[in-house]
Amino acid sequence: MDDNDHRAIANRMDLFHQQEEGPGMVFWHPRGFALYRIIEDTIRGRMKQSGFREIRTPQLLARELWEKSGHWEKFAGNMFVIDDDERAHALKPMSCPAHVQVFNKRVRSFRDLPLRLAEFGACHRNEPSGALYGLMRTRAFVQDDAHIFCAPDDVEAEVARFCRMLFDIYGDFGFDDVAVAFSTRPDKRAGSDDAWDRAEAALEAAAKAAELDYRVDPGEGAFYGPKLDFHLRDSHGRDWQCGTVQLDLVLPERLDASYVDSDGHRARPVMIHHAVLGSIERFIGMLLEHHGGDLPLWLAPDQVVVANITDVSAPYAREVASKLEDDGLRVALDLRSDRIAKKIIDARSAGIPVLAAVGEREARDGTVSLRHRDGSQQVVALGDAADVLAP
Ligand SMILES: [Zn+2]
Repeated sequence: MDDNDHRAIANRMDLFHQQEEGPGMVFWHPRGFALYRIIEDTIRGRMKQSGFREIRTPQLLARELWEKSGHWEKFAGNMFVIDDDERAHALKPMSCPAHVQVFNKRVRSFRDLPLRLAEFGACHRNEPSGALYGLMRTRAFVQDDAHIFCAPDDVEAEVARFCRMLFDIYGDFGFDDVAVAFSTRPDKRAGSDDAWDRAEAALEAAAKAAELDYRVDPGEGAFYGPKLDFHLRDSHGRDWQCGTVQLDLVLPERLDASYVDSDGHRARPVMIHHAVLGSIERFIGMLLEHHGGDLPLWLAPDQVVVANITDVSAPYAREVASKLEDDGLRVALDLRSDRIAKKIIDARSAGIPVLAAVGEREARDGTVSLRHRDGSQQVVALGDAADVLAP
């Protein structure tokens, strides 16, 4: 396996493993799951700022709902179906139909719109075993799925706002090269030409309002509506499709979503599907390869490892670790009786950005000796270390 394969990187960082009994599934180890949670919380915070409310919907839903939504017909081959004596259920391959159920549970007025719902949806898709590939193609993954239910007039502003958020988030993760594709109506599609005209015009206006530089992919839209796809270019020059914004003309109709408009009439909301990362698993795979495992400090699951130079400094090393932890850093402790040179090599290999070496001199002076990834070193007072590392 190539050294820069995310599976090799994850192995030396001790992030996750996969095994034969769980094809396409992931066993997250403590450090890997810490990374997972940092990413999830980053998105969660951004979504909240953008007016989304987080929900959680069932994993397993009855066949009838998947029939109504159209997934049974289009997607059944990819769904894990569980038959008991009474009726068939399927593990959800996506959260959209469930979100419509939440929308439908109340009588909605135009005053409730736009209603923005987000979920870290645990999805399952029965991918062929030959297609499975580390985190890049799994059978179980979490999608940062979100839906906006809005009036037709709101589409432009909602999409434009979402696009701006998307670029900010990608930049934070170190992806600055983002290509946007605008996919228009395919030959096989649902909905009238008139509805498609309006949907494409609205999405195009939104793309312009967000000042996106996009290419047009004619005929590449989803059967239910046009979409914008966001492709990230990684440090190896490869493109990965992550984010998506899709207008849906079909699902609100099929699942009978409606609201009362300002004239007191029943109207169909527009449903906008979107995701920033797509599959969190796959995004982590990309992120590891993009950074070669050297994640920026804010993302590193362990930000500092405190290592004692000799056994007598172990108590001080413990004190340093607990102080840095109290100051909000994610800290590991290396108290093995190995030489410090070996501990430095191991920290590098585990992708930990900083090693704080402490010996008798540091214990006496109340300092730590910080060794950074780039080879630079500095001695700082223990009380200042957290500020120096994460100002
Ligand atoms: Zn959706």
